[in-house]
Amino acid sequence: MAISSQSTVQALIDADQRVHAVLLYGSDDAIREGLARRLAQGWLCTSEALRPCGECDSCRAFEKGNSLDLRDVSPSGPQNLIRLQSIAEPSTRDPGDTTQPISEFVQRPPYKARRKVVLIHDADRMNSAAANALLKMLEEPLPRVAMILTVAAVGSVLPTILSRCLCVACASPSELDIANEMEQVLADGTQGRLDAVRSKTEFYTSLWSVFQNIERAPASAGLGIAEKFRAVASLYGGEQVPARVIQAEMLHSLGLWVRNTWPADVEARRLVAEAHRRVVGNVDFAIATDPMFCRLLVNANNSELSSRRQV
Ligand SMILES: [Zn+2]
Repeated sequence: MAISSQSTVQALIDADQRVHAVLLYGSDDAIREGLARRLAQGWLCTSEALRPCGECDSCRAFEKGNSLDLRDVSPSGPQNLIRLQSIAEPSTRDPGDTTQPISEFVQRPPYKARRKVVLIHDADRMNSAAANALLKMLEEPLPRVAMILTVAAVGSVLPTILSRCLCVACASPSELDIANEMEQVLADGTQGRLDAVRSKTEFYTSLWSVFQNIERAPASAGLGIAEKFRAVASLYGGEQVPARVIQAEMLHSLGLWVRNTWPADVEARRLVAEAHRRVVGNVDFAIATDPMFCRLLVNANNSELSSRRQV
């Protein structure tokens, strides 16, 4: 079903080397291509915690559009086709054609990334020579190479290629039945997260009210807010969930709130991501979150940033 495509993509990122080829299909270009980019970044990212982290060298290169470990292939030319020379070395080449085929790109190990990623947009626009060459590569996957194919509809792709890919339907997160801003932000477009938010109402509403205090608090209130934030952990519920998992989820939720509240504030996002990474890496919850909240509030009260946020 549609909505779960975002959580599926996250699961594929987490599955890491076990998945070699994914085909994302759906008629909404923005959603399909957005998920393809997220998956590509997630697979390139070298963070050990939540991927994509947005901070490692590999993520930064990806965001600047100059990752050496990513190869984008799109249809081109008057016929709008993906031709053989983009996929594998043709027997003859047009003079002046310097396209490096994917077959060559995948031979060297990644420079910075966890894996090399090949992203083929509109994969149904491959001519038959290109499709057959790609099929050969899909049949013999290389350990540190991942392929992502995107198409509007699966019906237009060779069945032999489909059978070698894990196919994921992409659809709009707006199909989620969202009741309020808290659900909108914390569900992050996935049914799985929305269900979790609804099943732990007290935990998430308490967390949400702490987040809302951050916006109004003076710069000196960091330690007090940090303490209120940590106290919410006890409301998570009676299951056998390790404390680290709850703490990581709290910081993940804070990250979603920060992203929604101050979308342009890179520093705020960095602070939360850093605390998340430290907690996942077994740093004490208070040691990771006290300085984070102090710096977050100073940052939020910085007048220059505040005025920029109002733009
Ligand atoms: Zn990263």
